[in-house]
Amino acid sequence: MTLFTRDFGKVSALAKGAKRLKSAFESGFDLLARCRVVFLHKSTTALDLLTESQLLERFHPRAGSLSHLYGGYYVAELLNALTEEDDPHPLLYDAAVAGLEHLGRDESPFLAVTRFELAVLFEIGQLPDFYSCTICHSDIAPGHPGRFWVSQSGLICSNCGRSEYQPSEFHPGSLAVLHQLLQTEAGEPGEIPVSAQQKKEIRRLMTAAISHVLGRRPKTLSLITM
Ligand SMILES: [Zn+2]
Repeated sequence: MTLFTRDFGKVSALAKGAKRLKSAFESGFDLLARCRVVFLHKSTTALDLLTESQLLERFHPRAGSLSHLYGGYYVAELLNALTEEDDPHPLLYDAAVAGLEHLGRDESPFLAVTRFELAVLFEIGQLPDFYSCTICHSDIAPGHPGRFWVSQSGLICSNCGRSEYQPSEFHPGSLAVLHQLLQTEAGEPGEIPVSAQQKKEIRRLMTAAISHVLGRRPKTLSLITM
């Protein structure tokens, strides 16, 4: 199985006998369950050996919403696809825990999912610069007159914009929300007011940024209604 640990990053480990009724592992190996584990680290390519596990917390997506459940799967997909073994990211672990908690109670998965995407991009050093134009590098601020456009690696200012970018317009209000998300911690309550239009524009931007880094569109993202 693949675990994402706070201290060691991604770990591929063998849990011998985990499916037996009486094993050293509590029945805690559901996807997204948080556990305290003991494992033996093997050198080179061999799988690590899991020897003990204690369930701390299961993932409880907001009742009645498949989107919150898929939001959790999406967190798992990004952790698995964008992190390497033996490369610890304790802050990313904390961001994942906070994101899953929010998916348990927030009305919309939007803030939890978007904050987690920003955290993962930041932690792997792939966060686009959302404060300047990707072409001319001039400052992009919410007070800036006019609109911006979404590119694969960030935003394009109105001077560099072309008519063919029109379908990916990004308004200053969306930029203000995005900057607010970048400046608040993942664990903070999801209380930023976001309009439907801003959600749409920010989701387009984040999907482009994540797909760019993954080299494909994420599998679970299209299942989430924000
Ligand atoms: Zn520009």
